[in-house]
This record gives sequence, C-alpha cells and structure tokens, in this order.
Amino acid sequence: MQIEIITVGNEILSGRTVDTNFAFLARALEAASVQVGWHTAVGDQSERIAEALHAALGRADAVVMTGGLGPTPDDLTRKAVATALGRPLRLDEQVVESIRARARTLRRTLPASVETQALIPIGAQLWPNRLGTAPGILILEDQKPVMLLPGVPQEMEALAEEHLVPYLRKRSRRVVETFTLRTSGVFESALQEKIGALPQGWSGASLAYLPSFFGVDLRVTVAGDDAEPVERVTGRAYRELRERVGPVVYAEGTHTMDEVVGEILLERGLRLATAESCTGGLLAKRITDTPGASRYFERGYVTYSNASKVELLDVPAADIEKHGAVSAPVAEQMAAGAARRAGVEVGVSITGIAGPGGGTEAKPVGTVFVGLSASGSTAARKFHFAGTRYAIRERSVQYALDMVRRQLQALPLEPRLDG
Ligand code: ATP
Repeated sequence: MQIEIITVGNEILSGRTVDTNFAFLARALEAASVQVGWHTAVGDQSERIAEALHAALGRADAVVMTGGLGPTPDDLTRKAVATALGRPLRLDEQVVESIRARARTLRRTLPASVETQALIPIGAQLWPNRLGTAPGILILEDQKPVMLLPGVPQEMEALAEEHLVPYLRKRSRRVVETFTLRTSGVFESALQEKIGALPQGWSGASLAYLPSFFGVDLRVTVAGDDAEPVERVTGRAYRELRERVGPVVYAEGTHTMDEVVGEILLERGLRLATAESCTGGLLAKRITDTPGASRYFERGYVTYSNASKVELLDVPAADIEKHGAVSAPVAEQMAAGAARRAGVEVGVSITGIAGPGGGTEAKPVGTVFVGLSASGSTAARKFHFAGTRYAIRERSVQYALDMVRRQLQALPLEPRLDG
C-alpha cells in the first residue's frame, strides 16, 4: 500500500511552521510498514486543496490530510474535500454534543463557529478526538481511504496513533514488528562496517540507521504476511545485531541516555553532581529532564569563568595557568571539586571550546574534555566534535552522560565496537 500525505496550511508554505506533522506521520507509517510514496504541502485555498486531493487519489492507495479542519474561515479542508468528492456536508449531532460537552468540562463558552467542526461529509466515519474538538474523518472513495486529521500536532499525533495507524495496519493485513537499538560514541560508517549487508535469514527485515546528536539509532522493521516467521526473523535480527554492536548500545526503544544514567545511579544508591563550563548548564538540564531526578542529582555548578572554577570547585589557579581551562587536569579537578563540594559519590564535568570563535591550533573549536570523579578516582577524556556551537554542546552532554554510564557499568571509558 502506497500512501500520500497532504499537509495543508499557508504557515507551512511560508516556512513559519516546520512541517512536523509530516515527519511524525511518515515515521509512524514507516514503523507500521505502510509506505509513504508522496508528500504534498498545499496552502489554504479550496481549489489547490481539491487539486492536491485529486492528484493524490490518481496515484496513491490512500490519502492522509492534516490541517485546516478548524472553525476559522481559513480552515477550508473539510469543505474543499466535500466538494471535490461530491459529498455534501451534514451536521453530525453527536459531534455537536461532544463539542458542547467539552466546553462544559473546560468551563468555557466556545464560539458558535466551533460547531462548523461538526459538519461532516456524507458517508464518512469519524475518529473521536480526545484532545480537541475536530474529529478525524475517514472517507472511503472508490475503496481508497481518505483520512482527514486536525493540524494541531498533539491532536494529530493522538488520532494517528489511536486510529489511523491501526486502521491502515489492519487494512494492509501485514504483520509488522520493530525494535530500536540506540548506540552512542561510534560513527554510522563504523556501525555499517561491523554489521555488513543484512545477514542471511533476515528476510522481510529492513534496517535503518538514524543518526542524531545523541548517537546512531538502529531501527529494524520486519514485515510479512504471517506472525510466526515475522517473530522468528525479529528475534534473530535482535540477537545478531546485539552480538555485533552490543558494546555501544546504551538503550532500546525510546529510552534516553539521561534515563539510563538515572536508573543506574538509583540502583547503586549513588548521587551525582555536575560542573560545566562550555555547556552552561545543559548537562544539568538533561539530567533533570527525567522526572524523579532529585533522587540521584544533587546539584550542578555552571563555572564559566576561570575565577568561578577556582572559587566554587577548588580548581588550583596554577593548573588553569599551566594547562589552560580546557584541559584534562582542569576537567578532572572540576569533577572532583563538584563531587567533594556537593558531598556526593559521582562528579562529572565538561570544559571545552564550543565556538564559533576561541579555537587555537592546539585546541581547535570542538575540543572538549569530559572529567569524571567516582569512588575517589578521577579520569578525563578528550573529544573533537564537529559542527555548530549547538551541535558541539549537545554532543558534549551526551558523551559526558555516556562516560558516567560506562564508568558505573565498569565498561571501558572509550566506546569501542569490539568491546
Ligand atoms: P484548529 O482546530 O486548531 O483550527 P486545524 O485542523 O484547523 O486545527 P490548523 O489551523 O491548520 O489546524 O493548525 C493548527 C495549529 O497546528 C497551528 O498552530 C499550526 O501551526 C499547527 N500545524 C498545522 N499544520 C501543521 C504541520 N503540518 N506541522 C506542524 N504544525 C502544524
């Protein structure tokens, strides 16, 4: 089954809104093994919306449209679709009632125009919207599903997960299994080399390399007509992939590095303090993104100036003078100072040159030292990160967290594919 996604809205064409709805839908459909063959973005004009729908119906097996289902005059999708498909709109009493009930729950008076969202093309099926007033709409046009979802991302995502994806999955009658292994510290090319071509016996499987600042995620999708072979191949692919890249896998699925580090600290009854220079608090922010971080995170020091490193972390001024603030000895002292001052078992530090200025020949932009202090011993590692200031800071934080994880799990501090 090949699908076309049409995203509607002037704000998308002007670039003021990034089309995250498309990205979400494409990922969700790919994970369900439904192929996206086309993507069209169209402005808030009835003729263009109708034109886009006709073109999509001419080539795709199903069409998903998002945006323009709201009550305002520039929300034209439902009307344009109704006209294009020759299905007059009728007021759906149940939708009117659910809109009124929602207003009562929220103790708000909604403008009467909201009820235009209860205008539904004849013969359509509805998917209730838990988070808003416009329901999802499913129309079967010559056996081809045309599905309309609201543009508000949370509403669109909930409707896609709860209704659209299960519906298409059932319709395509494919059995699909997926899993994701998250790796950190090695390049995509090194992973590719290690994994090689898809091993034999992985029939029906596809492997996607998904790089980001956080590392490279390996996502395997196995699709087939019957559950038994799909499960067998999935199990095999999982075992073989773990065998090949296991040493650099830090998590599975959507588990994040900060969650993993938090779990290890909790399990071991250890507490953490951070000391940051070039990341300016980003590391502490990432750690506290996880609810419940207060159980293992004591405090974070942002020591941007040399004086603050001396004053707050007891880094000897002579070491800064001799090695520079961006150096292994200073990174180690920062980590040790943070742990000692905070009275905790584990300290981690970041000092580096995030750029774009400030680099030298000996220490170019992207030079970052991560320091660690745990159970009385200290260590530091040097990294060279490429990219913008933003990328360098994000990568530094991810590597610092990974170093804490490696230290606590008694793994070598340098990520290596051969273990
Ligand atoms: P509403 O009922 O709120 O009017 P709607 O279905 O009419 O919803 P729009 O008016 O098109 O949707 O958009 C609502 C909000 O969702 C806007 O803030 C818009 O920027 C955002 N939005 C719309 N389409 C997308 C998209 N493709 N990607 C990301 N955000 C989007």
